[in-house]
Amino acid sequence: MTEESKLRDLICTLAKSMFDRGLTGGSTGNISARTPDGGLLVSPTGISFGRLDPARLSRFDATGRHISGDQPTKEMPLHSAFYGTRSTTGAVVHLHSCHSVAWSMMPDVDPDNFLPPMTPYAIMKLGRVKLLPFYMPGDPAMGDAVRGLAGKRSAVMLANHGPVVAGKDIEAACNAIEELEDTARLAMLMRGYDAKMLTPDQVQNLVTKFNVDWDA
Ligand SMILES: [Zn+2]
Repeated sequence: MTEESKLRDLICTLAKSMFDRGLTGGSTGNISARTPDGGLLVSPTGISFGRLDPARLSRFDATGRHISGDQPTKEMPLHSAFYGTRSTTGAVVHLHSCHSVAWSMMPDVDPDNFLPPMTPYAIMKLGRVKLLPFYMPGDPAMGDAVRGLAGKRSAVMLANHGPVVAGKDIEAACNAIEELEDTARLAMLMRGYDAKMLTPDQVQNLVTKFNVDWDA
């Protein structure tokens, strides 16, 4: 089995796992990963995360030309923006995940630091998450907004829509976006309580100890 066919299988396995756990429903969500030759594999447009076919993933060569497979997701500009601005990006995942979207609608959310400091792994895996405004689906301005962050953030939240997370590889990107959704769910659960968040010192210690890209 070639490295590329292993990657194709892994993309579909991880997408199905997220679909099966209700992290994105219907035909929502899209996922992409760098191939060993510098190209990209991308989930096709309009297909459920529960039924991705490894043989039909959209394949791009290293120059960005579509060379095989089905037509890619229409949210491709979002993915390209991360690859274009963060050289460490090996994969990008986007979900329509319930609690993240709910939290994006709350009036007291800090757009520059979307998630409250609740657990260490959210800080370690995501850094500071930027909340971007609402855009019409497929609007290329979403990609422009990510490019405007100049590669300083690995995770953004599209208001009233869903999160987009880049990682060094497909497993890292999926783990990080699950951490984002879990943290948003915790934030919703704890809303209205006088919950004890991590202190600024604790956050700073995590950032220092685990070399987190915090963009403060
Ligand atoms: Zn979307």
